[in-house]
Amino acid sequence: MQQFTFQSSFPRVVFESGAIRHLEREVELLGASKALVLSTPDQAHYAEMVADRLGSRCAGIFANAVMHVPIEVARAARDEARRLGADCAIAIGGGSTTGLGKAIALESALPILAIPTTYAGSEMTPIYGITDAGLKKTGRDIRVLPRAVLYDPELTTTLPFAMSVTSGINAIAHAAEGLYAQDTNPIMDLLAIEGISALAKGLPKLKTNLEDREGRSGCLYGAWLCGTVLGNVGMALHHKLCHTLGGSFDLPHAQTHTVILPYALAYNAPAVPAVMRRIADAIGTEDAPTGMWQLAKELGAPVSLRDIGMPYEGIDRVLELTMMSAYPNPRPLDRAALRALLERAFAGELPQSNQ
Ligand code: NAD
Repeated sequence: MQQFTFQSSFPRVVFESGAIRHLEREVELLGASKALVLSTPDQAHYAEMVADRLGSRCAGIFANAVMHVPIEVARAARDEARRLGADCAIAIGGGSTTGLGKAIALESALPILAIPTTYAGSEMTPIYGITDAGLKKTGRDIRVLPRAVLYDPELTTTLPFAMSVTSGINAIAHAAEGLYAQDTNPIMDLLAIEGISALAKGLPKLKTNLEDREGRSGCLYGAWLCGTVLGNVGMALHHKLCHTLGGSFDLPHAQTHTVILPYALAYNAPAVPAVMRRIADAIGTEDAPTGMWQLAKELGAPVSLRDIGMPYEGIDRVLELTMMSAYPNPRPLDRAALRALLERAFAGELPQSNQ
């Protein structure tokens, strides 16, 4: 018999090819008139485009967002928002830029309008992360959840294929773990399955044409759904492993998720066979862990930790850290099975469900 609690807190979402044309309206709906526009240095041209559209409603641009929100960058952005008297922050970019917006909102409660250009999904979560002295601290606070999100597939056509794939699989990981979360509910399950399916169908379409409209739209739609799942239910082994790996060896975020997902699914498969069948159906394969591994390989993504820069000696450290932290996971943590998982992931071998 089903048993669940459902409580919703979603940002307003405008999804449309060319949605950027609604920018001024959305800023107005926030009751704002002095926006601070955020981006990475690479995407400063996007920030300028937003500033141009806003005209006098733009207070300034801060184009220094970097991965994992270093505290120094967060402080500089907060100071800039105060100095300019900004009354909202517009984050145009991937998870790093959205993360910077969240760091500002955490202290100032400034409303955030997010315009995602990757599939990370941070715009749909109340989760923030700030890195201080090399340590990333994460937390949940409803003040950091963007008030509105403009999803414009046109803005994602510049995302290179390799990054589109790893970012898309990063999104699939949110939904896959959401399906076996302790606190999941039927609504999140529906979103998770639809999100996985949209990304699994959309990503291959980008292989030959980065501007494939159906592919871009499907992937961004999937990213929205998967991000919503991440924001609403707890994650498990996969996310904890990726957090430990990323923090310990400074591994790239989306690639780490891409490598680990098939192995984390294989580890949990014996405990949640029905979930694995649903994931397999959503990606159109017989077996979820090997199907995910094959999808990543076919799309040219990295499938081994070795290939993304992890040293072999690091396995012991990750194992210790993983065994130390207690969190809900469908299959209890078993040292020998986890070591087998990490060894396989290091070498990029086909995942095995009976590890
Ligand atoms: P990212 O934001 O760091 O972007 C990677 C690079 O791609 C950047 O240089 C960026 O400028 C560039 N880029 C982004 N969109 C582009 C586009 N359309 N065209 C060309 N280049 C583009 O990477 P990400 O994977 O989106 O985000 C990763 C970060 O987000 C990590 O720090 C992760 O922890 C965080 N994250 C947080 C949450 C959350 O809920 N808090 C969820 C997912 C990810």
